[in-house]
Amino acid sequence: MSPSVSDSRRGPVQPLIGITTRLDLAESTFYLRRYYAEAIAAAGGTPVYLPLIPEPSYLDRVCGLLDGLLLSGSNSDLDPARYGEEPRPRLGAVVPVRDEVDLALIARCDARRAPILGICYGAQALNVARGGSLVQDIEAEVASAVKHDQGAPYDRPSHQIRLAADSLLARLAGGETARVNSSHHQAIKGVGRDLRVAARAGDGVIEAVEDPRPDRFCLGVQWHPELGWERDALSRAIFDSFVQAAGNFRSEIRDLAR
Ligand code: MN
Repeated sequence: MSPSVSDSRRGPVQPLIGITTRLDLAESTFYLRRYYAEAIAAAGGTPVYLPLIPEPSYLDRVCGLLDGLLLSGSNSDLDPARYGEEPRPRLGAVVPVRDEVDLALIARCDARRAPILGICYGAQALNVARGGSLVQDIEAEVASAVKHDQGAPYDRPSHQIRLAADSLLARLAGGETARVNSSHHQAIKGVGRDLRVAARAGDGVIEAVEDPRPDRFCLGVQWHPELGWERDALSRAIFDSFVQAAGNFRSEIRDLAR
């Protein structure tokens, strides 16, 4: 199923949401699957895909235009040097420019208090940007792990998560449990500054973090709400609340400029 214009629920504010892309090193191509942009558009945002250009002046300019930042998933792993560890044998491919651009965009959006939503790799990047660390490979490092790399179909909710009682996620889910899809071999280990654990899988693996400060929207989820948002209420609520926060941020910035 693919969404069409008729699916969109656009309000009067259509905040501009930057979405980080991936880099195919063999093809020298920035790319990203359609679902991220379609989920943002359906929630009433204006999605734009961001090339991975690590130039500070470009990053300053593009960040100044954005009302929210969506950090997409990646088939690469963050360089463990970013969190002070040596690479372990099961570490996957590292794409340094992706790490550099995501971390630089997070720092700039944090400075502006702009809303951030991190998905999978993006949640891990958010955590590392805030000084946290990662499990380099769940199978190698977590005892009695559940299967976090489910395979196709990728939108199938495959494992349960438990949500922290007073979290934004629990509010969005309307309860303290949910089932989510899972396509990751890494996870958040040490939780970064101004983040708290909002969800864990049955094996204790951290599945979501959020910034509890009231003047922020900053959420990282280890699963993929961009797959299945058309059918899954929690996925839809995540995109709706993020775009809503970006719309509020845009209004605040405009008020300040007046
Ligand atoms: Mn998982």
